[in-house]
Amino acid sequence: MDKKIVKEIAAIVGEEYVSTRQDVLLTYSQSASTGFDGAMPDLVVKPGSTEEVAAIVKIANRYKIPVTPRSGGTSLQGEVIPKYGGIVIELLRLKEITLFEDLRSVRVGAGVTFGQLDKFLNQHGLWVPVYPESSLACTVAGNVVVNGAGPGSSKYGSIAEMVLGLTVVLPTGEIIKTGAEGNPNAPGPYLRYSFGPDITGLFIGSLGMFGIITTISVKTYKRMQFFDYNTYGFETAEQAERFIHELKQNDVNTLFISLYEGQILDFFMEMLGEEYGIPKYDWPPYTVSLIIGHVRKDVMQSDAAMAREICENLDGFVINIPEFPRGEWEDRLRTFARASYAHGWHWRILYHHHTPMHWHYVIEKIWEGLDKFGILGQTAGFATGHASFNFYPHLYFDPADKEDEEKVRAMHTWLAEQVFKVGAVPFKIAPYWFKDVPEMTDYLNLVKRMKKEMDPNNILNPHILGGEE
Ligand SMILES: Cc1cc2nc3c(=O)[nH]c(=O)nc-3n(C[C@H](O)[C@H](O)[C@H](O)COP(=O)(O)OP(=O)(O)OC[C@H]3O[C@@H](n4cnc5c(N)ncnc54)[C@H](O)[C@@H]3O)c2cc1C
Repeated sequence: MDKKIVKEIAAIVGEEYVSTRQDVLLTYSQSASTGFDGAMPDLVVKPGSTEEVAAIVKIANRYKIPVTPRSGGTSLQGEVIPKYGGIVIELLRLKEITLFEDLRSVRVGAGVTFGQLDKFLNQHGLWVPVYPESSLACTVAGNVVVNGAGPGSSKYGSIAEMVLGLTVVLPTGEIIKTGAEGNPNAPGPYLRYSFGPDITGLFIGSLGMFGIITTISVKTYKRMQFFDYNTYGFETAEQAERFIHELKQNDVNTLFISLYEGQILDFFMEMLGEEYGIPKYDWPPYTVSLIIGHVRKDVMQSDAAMAREICENLDGFVINIPEFPRGEWEDRLRTFARASYAHGWHWRILYHHHTPMHWHYVIEKIWEGLDKFGILGQTAGFATGHASFNFYPHLYFDPADKEDEEKVRAMHTWLAEQVFKVGAVPFKIAPYWFKDVPEMTDYLNLVKRMKKEMDPNNILNPHILGGEE
């Protein structure tokens, strides 16, 4: 990168927060997405305030340099890789946390991880009850940008449902505030839907192409103290699906519901069974692992009794292995990290949503693909929000074997088309949805028009709409 530009940027943040060293750039050429090719940026900068971010973006605009915002770098679909080089703006120095106890909200800087926020809120008997399973490393802002979810989501939905407002640096360098904080006289964040259309939503799930979030305000809840952990067995997928539906219909406070096939459970037990103290068991064809939580013990007990009754009315049975859901919940800030990397595998993931009532259609497609392409893989997912199920099948490969990797890429494309055909929708938009699903063309053309309007020089994460994998 031209030394003059490096100097201009260093003048904004200070020499120590800018680097063009190859070893540093190499660190920012990759992410946790083990199945995607890396790419080197030309410069990494670590601003310390919203104003500094805005000043850097203005320079990038002037010289038409691509910009990739980066927080934890834990996203899994290659989105944070600076495909076209340019500047990586790393936001981890934005660490402020401001609690608005009376407004039941908290504002955090873009560099605050879920782990840090949870530790802070715990001191006040509070939490944000949605935990991506990379919580120790990923930021709240980064999760909003990819529209994430995790333990807690079976009740509260994706992280989008928690958001009350944002501070955003637009691709042109202007700064806007959304939600109640758009009024500088407001006591803090207390309402998302103000000032007309929901501009906050434009940035949720945007993968950073519309602006750089520098602060984010989210709802807080009183921390639950009472939990019921249990496992429920079923002979058919339809019974297990109906169980999930009935739990929701009866307002059982389902913090986390996962549905597993017996064969997948055997696989998980190999990875985490011993560590979680789960006894050996001949798992039935379908198991629902359920965590019920409440701030009040009596309501928790009543919900637990209701769950058992619903299960038995559906001819299911209570397995009574609480160690499994308890392990999932207590380890919620990192379960997936441990499970996914347990054997040192490389993998690709295909995030999407369907409804729990159609869970088996998606599972059938995933297994069909694994057979068709001859790939090692697993199904995975959990209930998210009102009537949705968040799927993230893993496709494993050996990175040293190019043929194996090609097969996984081909299956990825095939599976996106197939799950779309059975009614699934993208969760965490990724370039392969743009390329491989023609039914989304009109929608995506509108997104492209908006991008052009907001980012005339196409500097901010230009690869997102590039249609490449
Ligand atoms: C082991 C493991 C477990 C995971 N489990 C879950 C899970 O349970 N649920 C889940 O949802 N995800 C999960 N993920 C995926 C990942 O952790 C999340 O997507 C996470 O929220 C990404 O946050 P981040 O701070 O690391 O963002 P990054 O990876 O740094 O960035 C993600 C995207 O957002 C953009 N971006 C980053 N910060 C900003 C910003 N401030 N403003 C604008 N754009 C920005 C980047 O350019 C990129 O496109 C998991 C990942 C791993 C490795």
